[in-house]
Amino acid sequence: MDFVLRNALVIDTDPVVALPGTDVLITDGRIAAVGEGLTAGTVIDCTGRIVLPGFVDTHRHLWQVLVRSFLAEMSLGEYLEKILRPVQAVLSPEDLAIGTLAGALECLASGITTVQDYSFAPTFDHAEAAVQALRESGIRAMYGYGQPVFGPACSEEDVRRGAGLGGGLVDIALAPLGPSFSDITVVEREWRLARSLGLRVVTHVAGHDNPISALRDRGLLDANTTFAHGNDLGDDELKLIAEAGAGLSLAPAVEAAMGHGKPMVRRTRALGVPTGLGVDSVTVVAGDMFSLMRATLLSAHLSEGAHVTPADVLRMATIEGAAVIGMADRVGSLGVGKQADLVVLRADDLNLLGAHDPIAAVVSAAHPGNVEKVFVGGVRSQRQDVRLQLDGLSSAAKSRIRPGNR
Ligand SMILES: [Zn+2]
Repeated sequence: MDFVLRNALVIDTDPVVALPGTDVLITDGRIAAVGEGLTAGTVIDCTGRIVLPGFVDTHRHLWQVLVRSFLAEMSLGEYLEKILRPVQAVLSPEDLAIGTLAGALECLASGITTVQDYSFAPTFDHAEAAVQALRESGIRAMYGYGQPVFGPACSEEDVRRGAGLGGGLVDIALAPLGPSFSDITVVEREWRLARSLGLRVVTHVAGHDNPISALRDRGLLDANTTFAHGNDLGDDELKLIAEAGAGLSLAPAVEAAMGHGKPMVRRTRALGVPTGLGVDSVTVVAGDMFSLMRATLLSAHLSEGAHVTPADVLRMATIEGAAVIGMADRVGSLGVGKQADLVVLRADDLNLLGAHDPIAAVVSAAHPGNVEKVFVGGVRSQRQDVRLQLDGLSSAAKSRIRPGNR
């Protein structure tokens, strides 16, 4: 369907700019034009509305809806031992699918239209069920197929089959434990397998033992890699990520809550590291991009380096995040020809009224309740049936999975 969003306050992200009284024309699921006086068969009046590109969550474990807010003051060690270890031992493909669907719909409801889902699927059946759930949700996704933290690595045969699950709105990436958490010979085998299958690698990273140098020394560091966290990486290691054109996904809310280390967003700005944002885990933080942007902005001053503005943070939540997972050619801004992944916010809601700077208002004051419409590839996301359905499904799953004692 061709349609025009008429008379919106349009916020684009590449570069960041606010355009009052502007139309967005969507043709065949893509952005055909941004300007004034545009016409199409269907007109959606967006007077009093903000239209901006859909948010890109660059690192998230979608299924963890099933253990939401399990212990909001949990440290990283407790998260690993009290949630991941016991839950991963019993999580069935059906559980994973339910959690993934619920997490993806939560994303869409709050304006996240692209998500990198780091799934910890222990078997091909788990991965297949999770990808099916992503498709059912209608979200655009990069599905990270990889081993559980407490479990065996996926077999090469399973990874080869998993690579075939992609298509349409779902890309497949390999999500191995990586150089901070597994032996370098295992890392080398996994990286080379991913490259041979044309898969991006997404992986957690920590500061000890210079993991980025280790990859570089073996010829494994390239632009097709997304690292998550790394708060205690040295500047030299961060520079290597920038030089390789790889990306870093920060999860400032989870990193603060679980004690990963000092916020690093000013360092990544200063060192030119492509930086995206990730909710990571709803076991300890909220699942929407608004609270994540706020956490990024509020924690920035605790980090040394370059000044970070609301516009910088909005870029991390959109176009720069898209670059971090290798999707900037498709999503993250309103460039002509890009996928029409869009969020429409009610600018006249009480919490946004009176804003002098709409960009700062979106970053510092908006919340998921302001989201009126969401489009993915020009298709409106609307799953009114979802709440009741998911309530039933997730309570059934919750009765089967058992986190450790609180
Ligand atoms: Zn993570």
